[in-house]
Amino acid sequence: MTKPVLVVGAGPVGLTMAAELARYRVPVRIIDKAAQRTDKSKAIVLWSRTLELLDRAGCGESFVSAGLKVNAANILAGGKLLGHVSFAGIDSPHPYALGIPQSDTERLLEEHVGRLGVNVERRVELDSFTAHDDGVDAVLRHADGSTETVASSWLIGCDGAHSTVRHGLGLTFDGDTMKSDWILADVHMKGYPFPVTEMATYWHQSGVLLIFPITEGRYRIIADLGTPEGEVPAEPTLDRVRAIVAQRGPQGLDLFDPIWLSAFRINERKVADYRAGRVFVVGDAAHVHSPAGGQGMNTGMQDAINLAWKLALVCHRKSPLSLLDSYSAERSAVGTDVLKAAGRLTAVAVLRNPAAQSVRNLIGRLMLGLAPVRTAMVEQMTEISIGYPHSPLNGPSVYGLSEPAPGQRMPPINGTNLVGAGDRPLFSLFAKPSAATAQLLERHSTVLDSNLRVPPDDEGIWLVRPDGYTACIARESDTATIQAYLSEKIILHKQ
Ligand SMILES: Cc1cc2nc3c(=O)[nH]c(=O)nc-3n(C[C@H](O)[C@H](O)[C@H](O)COP(=O)(O)OP(=O)(O)OC[C@H]3O[C@@H](n4cnc5c(N)ncnc54)[C@H](O)[C@@H]3O)c2cc1C
Repeated sequence: MTKPVLVVGAGPVGLTMAAELARYRVPVRIIDKAAQRTDKSKAIVLWSRTLELLDRAGCGESFVSAGLKVNAANILAGGKLLGHVSFAGIDSPHPYALGIPQSDTERLLEEHVGRLGVNVERRVELDSFTAHDDGVDAVLRHADGSTETVASSWLIGCDGAHSTVRHGLGLTFDGDTMKSDWILADVHMKGYPFPVTEMATYWHQSGVLLIFPITEGRYRIIADLGTPEGEVPAEPTLDRVRAIVAQRGPQGLDLFDPIWLSAFRINERKVADYRAGRVFVVGDAAHVHSPAGGQGMNTGMQDAINLAWKLALVCHRKSPLSLLDSYSAERSAVGTDVLKAAGRLTAVAVLRNPAAQSVRNLIGRLMLGLAPVRTAMVEQMTEISIGYPHSPLNGPSVYGLSEPAPGQRMPPINGTNLVGAGDRPLFSLFAKPSAATAQLLERHSTVLDSNLRVPPDDEGIWLVRPDGYTACIARESDTATIQAYLSEKIILHKQ
């Protein structure tokens, strides 16, 4: 029997990983030491790029119909609007941030993975593991105290910030804990001055306040409290949250029926390499950062999607092991960028010096008045600008042909060119029909989707990866370049 891939952790990232592997018919087991899913709202946003990738996984619609479409952000200081940033113009079938509590995201992912025939094994903990050249033996501890040794083909640590897998590999989690305390409150609220489809950030002398709509009438409030007051930040009372909102935010808000009150300190940490032989770390096991920008869970889910199609091709013996080297090269670079961007956003928001605050507000107003700045901001927040410009998987390009360049995302056109959908991880050709392209499709039918798609430019052929990023570009007549790319980087040449 084929050894399964063992996914440790059934948070949003482990569930995404297991679902993608199962969709591509890779035998998979997923375990979690917790008795049940989180009931906490934690990450409350799914960004456009994650939704596009969920569409391709066949479950995007269930999230969209359960969430709230938030389509703009307002930034205020001293009671005045510095800028209004709309998500509406982005080139995506999902031009919004989807407000949805993490508890719902996990529920929908677990339903999705269940439809693919995989059950989450709960109250099963990874105790230890030993990696070999051809697999990983993992010792699992069950709720009754018994242990089981599983021979798995690959071990995937999606086991969160305190990852057993990361510790087992001895990977260092480099970074810092920031010296500021934060509070978080999910509350019901009346009197919000913006439409329920818009979020707001208030830069105030005493700190920052963020208000994000989660569902109709329910909001996430986040505020920084400055220098830590003790070893562990104290959980806020509703009255304390009300006082902070009254001081920093709009007047006349009525906060009631809190759902979750919490306090936290920001950790900014990351491992350098997300892979050690047959073991991977994915999601919070590999990187944690400020919740500013709300990118943590989305980044982790996209790590999983990046790894899954590569692992599926390797498990099905279509591609060589070297394909897996690109996972860490691509996703560790994205993790570093996300960490930096979230850190910058946090540093700007928590400025305390009045002179620095005045400069920030002035520059903020100027920058937010510039359309290109707003566009760049939105593309970064919604994650549609994520790409892999330095990936070892990028093939040749052609000077003068339009984008997307190798490593860049091919935008889904009205959701009709979803690449990587279905039960096989296939590359897609975006090219005009010709005898040469027909021959290419036929020759490489194990890794190429038989549907030809409309190219961004008639003079070129775009080869697009199963996760929607351009692999290489050739002139319209030059199928040999595509063929060489597939042969060199993707196709396993059996001996
Ligand atoms: C207050 C707060 C607000 C946040 N807001 C946002 C936001 O707005 N947007 C965003 O994108 N992100 C946000 N995040 C971050 C987001 O919650 C995390 O990035 C996300 O949960 C990471 O998912 P994960 O699956 O990697 O890890 P986790 O959700 O931590 O899941 C790990 C799972 O592994 C299991 N596990 C651990 N060890 C073992 C073991 N040895 N054996 C078996 N199982 C094990 C755990 O029980 C757990 O279920 C927020 C986080 C917090 C705390």
